Amino acid sequence: MFEAVLTLCLAGAEAECRSVLLPGYEAATMADCTAMLADTAPDLDVFGADVIAPGAPRCQPAGPVLDLQEIAPRLWVHKGAIAEPDRVNGGDVSNIAVVIGDASVAVIDTGSARWMGESLWRAVRARTKLPVSHVILTHMHPDHVFGASVFDGARVVGHAGLARALADRQANYLESLASLIGADRLIGTAPPDIDLAIDGKMEIDLGGRVLELSTWPTAHTGNDLTVVDRVSGTLLAGDLVFDGHIPALDGSVTGWQAVLEQMAGQPPVRVVPGHGGPVLPWPAGGAATARYLGVLAADTRAAIADGLRLGAAVERIAQGERDYWQLFDAFNARNATVAYTELEWE
Ligand SMILES: [Zn+2]
Repeated sequence: MFEAVLTLCLAGAEAECRSVLLPGYEAATMADCTAMLADTAPDLDVFGADVIAPGAPRCQPAGPVLDLQEIAPRLWVHKGAIAEPDRVNGGDVSNIAVVIGDASVAVIDTGSARWMGESLWRAVRARTKLPVSHVILTHMHPDHVFGASVFDGARVVGHAGLARALADRQANYLESLASLIGADRLIGTAPPDIDLAIDGKMEIDLGGRVLELSTWPTAHTGNDLTVVDRVSGTLLAGDLVFDGHIPALDGSVTGWQAVLEQMAGQPPVRVVPGHGGPVLPWPAGGAATARYLGVLAADTRAAIADGLRLGAAVERIAQGERDYWQLFDAFNARNATVAYTELEWE
């Protein structure tokens, strides 16, 4: 397999360059790829003004392919590392799913950067020639959304509040990602444009494969969306369900508890969490997240009742959960701060 790539460099930093895939320009042979490029000039405007593109697109052997496992017929999942984004994992820290219908393909979440979207695209292409019709984003966090722009031609789908939330935060997200994974790993990465905003429920038919999308009130974030793959009875929960990786609260602890309760009554028999898994029985797979949120809320209320100020409260809240979770120290204090701010006005 050969594919067309373009070398993009950070403006003003000549050494920081990388080859960026032009999705759609792939062929079995180098000659076919070169002919395709000569035939139809690619649109290079999508790469934005923050990178410079020296030279023309060219063909080369295909690059890395994201690792996917088939957890049900034609439902593939990539398990991200349980880690914070860093230079070693390049931001490959969250789960991604691919559902293949008879007519088209949906991708659910896309990783932290364009390189991940490219690797995902190759992984899809290794399994089907059907077009990717939908890129479904479960919420605004950078480890889920920044590979999306690779899927030119797909409709990018999200919660009705997602576009606004991203507009407010994407500059900060990209800046902090650059410091964590390196600016070179972000070359070519652009924030997604949301084509289809959902408020409530919607179905997407991939051809004999219907996905049921639901948006939720503020919980993990203010723009959480879940997907149910009806054929396989699988709930793709995004970060409403964590496994192994401590839950990260960026919305409302009481809202999240209520949403988890509602989700537990849904028909799916298994769940793909946003981190960990990658597949757990449902609703049992949501129990650990619910337990953590219960302890977080109870400890926060107790600290407030005891008159503890925020700084002292944060050191006490949910400490009993420490041994159950990875990345406890990276997230628990932030969660406690969010919970305290929410519950002190209860
Ligand atoms: Zn998240």
